[in-house]
Amino acid sequence: MEKASRAGVIAEDLVVGGSDMNASEADNQAVSTAFIGLGSNLGNPVAQLEAAVNALAQLPGVALRDVSGLYASPPMGPQDQPDYINAVACIATTLTPVGLLSGLKALERASGRLVTRHWGERILDLDILAYAECVLATPELTIPHPGISQRRFVVEPWLEIAPDARLPDGTKVAELATGLTDHPLRFVKQLDLSDLSGETHKSDHEIVKADRSSGGLL
Ligand code: ADP
Ligand code: MG
Repeated sequence: MEKASRAGVIAEDLVVGGSDMNASEADNQAVSTAFIGLGSNLGNPVAQLEAAVNALAQLPGVALRDVSGLYASPPMGPQDQPDYINAVACIATTLTPVGLLSGLKALERASGRLVTRHWGERILDLDILAYAECVLATPELTIPHPGISQRRFVVEPWLEIAPDARLPDGTKVAELATGLTDHPLRFVKQLDLSDLSGETHKSDHEIVKADRSSGGLL
């Protein structure tokens, strides 16, 4: 499969245009690379993350490019909850950051996630870790995600699929790995992308087309 993220480029936007689009369709619809953190510690977390990766690949305007292994670690907040399973996925998307957040929240809701205590247990947590070179701080959305630098369960899986990744301020994600003090991760499982939906092989042109045909769902 295409391993765009392995190029280690966090922020290279592609402008899509092509012979199968007419002039108005080819109006500079950018495809951005984004990294998504996935987590779960309720129900069957491994199955839920597998389902979430599949659902992510099928979101209109999103193509899955790569996903890390699944890793287990103790909870960050209240300790009276099960261990977490986490992974990081690389996607290509035509959605805006806010559009992508709405899509991720829709997937969280569809998984049956309920709002619980801060850093409490959850069926599915989907966070935007980084989106191209975007820097954003609104009450609704902060990009890059503010927790990255303290979280081994984000940094290590991210490096697995994008060893040269950098934050928009130039910080190498690999440098963050050296300052982590939290608990080591336990490898649980590698997802086989060929088992996932054919949507993982969407080309940039197909992402744009699917996005347009979603009728503004997201
Ligand atoms: P957390 O992931 O920090 O445990 P939640 O998943 O409950 O917390 O998210 C709380 C809110 O954080 C969301 O409703 C969302 O609006 C906001 N948020 C801010 N930045 C981000 C981001 N980069 N990715 C996902 N959610 C974010
Ligand atoms: Mg979240």
